Amino acid sequence: MSRKNEISKILEDELLQKVTKPTRYTGGEHNQVKKDGSQVDVTMAFAFPDVYEVGMSHLGLRILYHLINEQPRMAMERVFAPWPDMEKAMRSRGVPLFSLESRRPLTEFDVLGFTLQYEMSYSNILNMLDLAGIPLFAEERGDGDPLIMAGGPCAVNPEPVAPFLDLILLGEGEETLPRVLQTIADFKSETAFPAGGADCGGEQVETGAASPQTGKAHRGDRSRRETLLLRLAAIPGVYVPAFYRPEYEENGRFLGTKPMRPGVPEKVKKQIVTDLDKAYFPTTSLVPFMDVIHDRVMLEVLRGCSRACRFCQAGSIYRPVRERSPETLKRQAEELVKATGYDEIALTSLSTADYTCVEPLIKELIATHAGQKVGLSLPSLRVDAFSVDLAKEVQKVRKTGLTFAPEAGTQRLRDVINKGVTESDLMETVESAFSSGWTGLKLYFMIGLPTETEEDLEGIARLAEQVVYKGTAILREKGIKKSVRVTVSTSSFVPKAQTPFQWEPQAAMADLEAKQAFLKQRLRDRRISYNWHDAQISFLEAVFAKGDRRLAQVLHRAWQKGCVFDGWSEFFRYDTWMEAFRECGVDPAEYAYRAIGYDDPLPWDHLDFGVSRQYLIREHKNALAASLTRDCRVDSCAGCGVCPTLGVSIDLRGGDHVPSPDRL
Ligand code: SF4
Repeated sequence: MSRKNEISKILEDELLQKVTKPTRYTGGEHNQVKKDGSQVDVTMAFAFPDVYEVGMSHLGLRILYHLINEQPRMAMERVFAPWPDMEKAMRSRGVPLFSLESRRPLTEFDVLGFTLQYEMSYSNILNMLDLAGIPLFAEERGDGDPLIMAGGPCAVNPEPVAPFLDLILLGEGEETLPRVLQTIADFKSETAFPAGGADCGGEQVETGAASPQTGKAHRGDRSRRETLLLRLAAIPGVYVPAFYRPEYEENGRFLGTKPMRPGVPEKVKKQIVTDLDKAYFPTTSLVPFMDVIHDRVMLEVLRGCSRACRFCQAGSIYRPVRERSPETLKRQAEELVKATGYDEIALTSLSTADYTCVEPLIKELIATHAGQKVGLSLPSLRVDAFSVDLAKEVQKVRKTGLTFAPEAGTQRLRDVINKGVTESDLMETVESAFSSGWTGLKLYFMIGLPTETEEDLEGIARLAEQVVYKGTAILREKGIKKSVRVTVSTSSFVPKAQTPFQWEPQAAMADLEAKQAFLKQRLRDRRISYNWHDAQISFLEAVFAKGDRRLAQVLHRAWQKGCVFDGWSEFFRYDTWMEAFRECGVDPAEYAYRAIGYDDPLPWDHLDFGVSRQYLIREHKNALAASLTRDCRVDSCAGCGVCPTLGVSIDLRGGDHVPSPDRL
């Protein structure tokens, strides 16, 4: 019996009966693509380091899965992190991690590609490699092992996970990934790569030289792997960590990262799609058997955001704004509804209300799809009455909640972060929402922002109370007996690479907890509920967001001690993490709490995301002066450097709606 048939048999006869939510592991969803691995030139497993229902909601997976499978000589399958009950069952039966489509062990793929969505999913990457029987450290892997690739937003600073990865794609993958896979396919046809791993599934012997990192010998020869990696490193946007070395002073001070191989670029530049309208977008989508977080058609109306919120990494790394035309979006919506049977279309982006053709698009989508009882949703709303009008339009078919993110409690702090929202914007928005029939809404704030004082925290409580008073007055006027509900959520500020706040320290954990306690005390009105994010998780997020390669050993140690699913509070083990730091002699506070000087080398300096250091410094100084920077879609270029560096420009589709120019 082949290995995949053996896995299938154990799965169906034994494992699926023992675990919760077995459809996480069965595959076979509507629109799944299943190819014969022996009939294609290159195979890749897209690996999502979190559970199925989180991964299946990811737009990048939906795009790349169909993009690669539409190439006749390439195949992509999926794998998600098994929930701990399944992991236990698999380990006890000796079942290696397998793909959903063919149930082949991951060792039989040419490439295993992880998406780096969130720092707290890193331990799951190690766990998945281990469950697959693949050596964890890149330098331990030989010619017979799959190439381990990664991409996604955390690739902005991948250094803490770099030693586990063979290559990292920087930027948007629609053009780079097929090129990478074609290069691998060509290399395979020229050489006998991979040697023994793919399709053989047999035991491999350790024959290579010992790895300096782990002391273990790598599996078999590595020479063909190295040649292939060198070839891949020549593709724009491909970063091969093994070809770069971080340097430190004797006292441990980081000095910078230098290329170690002739021919590899000093700085690896991210790649982006210049014309979103022409970029690939699938006209079909997998339809899961079970509930997943975003179970609907996802229509990507635009990429990027130039509102320049200074804490926001997405705002920095997806610049410039590029829109899809309404004609393309209408066609894609029709095809996707037909292919999936979904009854909801989400208009996704970082800020959909900013789409220049948003009103006519919504009207036309409603006119086309309302008859089939297909509704629309807007996952991201700005704090303005226009957004409420859009939500009202959308709600003609189905009611959903309203969430707004003022982010900070006072005008001063909102100016520091360049949020561009005034208190009167918020009150107008709230008035419009309650007058339009909503009786509850959610408000998101961040605590621990640079320069924050008690007055700013008090401002959060005061704003929430004002929203309650305003809502109660409107409901009374309308004769509605229902009580107003306001949910206040706070996350803790995490300084992120490639943002104007990358030099800032995070607020101390005890301070964050004191701020949460203050708000718990202040928000006692029974019409207000308060949620907050675990400060210990935020601390580790900051450590890994600003960390360097020395953190890889800590991550490895924490995983050895049982840390997995760290983003899930029920599994997060802060004390175990701290033990791992102690045992490795690494001080996490050095990463999270140190204010970095403008001239200090940064662990991500060798990766070029297009936004210039000078711009980020200027923006940091503007933040400290509470000085605003205008949106480059409605004003002149703010000189962030992305357009000239990457050879792109803002691409608006020319509707009547201009993104609220008066608010700044
Ligand atoms: S280079 Fe100028 S126009 Fe382009 S994204 Fe940056 S600020 Fe906007």
